[in-house]
Amino acid sequence: AAGLDGKVALVTGGSRGIGAAVALRLAEDGADVALTYQGSAERAEEVVAKITAMGRTGWAVRADSADPEAVHAAVAAVAERFGRLDVLVNNAGVGAGGAIEEVAIEELDRVLEVNVRAPYLYAQAAVKHLTEGGRIVGIGSCIAQRVVFPGAALYATSKAALIGLTKALARELGPRGITVNLVHPGPIDTDMNPADGPSADFQRGFVALGRYGTANEVAGAVSYLAGEDGRYVTGAELSVDGGFAA
Ligand code: NDP
Repeated sequence: AAGLDGKVALVTGGSRGIGAAVALRLAEDGADVALTYQGSAERAEEVVAKITAMGRTGWAVRADSADPEAVHAAVAAVAERFGRLDVLVNNAGVGAGGAIEEVAIEELDRVLEVNVRAPYLYAQAAVKHLTEGGRIVGIGSCIAQRVVFPGAALYATSKAALIGLTKALARELGPRGITVNLVHPGPIDTDMNPADGPSADFQRGFVALGRYGTANEVAGAVSYLAGEDGRYVTGAELSVDGGFAA
């Protein structure tokens, strides 16, 4: 057993892709799960329905990660509705690409707001509620460890920032018995990076296992870090990338 019975998890960006798989996996592990989304209300409700079908409580909250007030309000609402918060999974993120001289300031800000500021703010809001045994799991990227193509400066910057956040929070929250870790997915078949997309063969060429990963394979790693077996792991980066960064 993962040891999440009676625990409450919040997964950002839980309507699709990796976040949806994580939300379902944590519910399977025994947790009640709240998830945020931005635009995909129907998809979010589908995930909630599946969580409900497992006999757990699910709840979808619309919160644009780029909006600091929405982030703090989402955490407060979840803590109030469930009466506690044990696991935060900072998953919501956006992709970005382009030569450095072509990235507009608006895009730079937007990507940093969603991929970096929001995980920081979610952690800031969550630590008011997390207690002994609490967990924060971030979703980074293999690109934070190995950049194999040009045009990735913004995305790589945003994901590498999470390494510092993870290590610093592991130090800060360790005395409270809270662990903080970061999972680095490789190419994972989702809307963001479809396994039949234009650059898919190129990406696959860097993967030791020679294939895309699935959202469920990432969810398994998050489940480990969120559960009992992960209790002595903190400040760590866990690559789930098929050997992309090897
Ligand atoms: P998807 O694009 O498939 O899903 C993104 C999810 O994040 C959706 O649930 C979306 O909500 C939510 N989201 C996006 N922007 C916001 C926002 N501003 N506010 C709230 N929610 C938001 O992405 P993936 O599942 O592929 O990616 C999940 C995470 O994994 C990201 O952090 C990504 O960078 C990372 N990652 C992905 C890899 C891959 O190959 N797929 C590789 C390495 C890392 P909505 O449906 O409402 O739009």
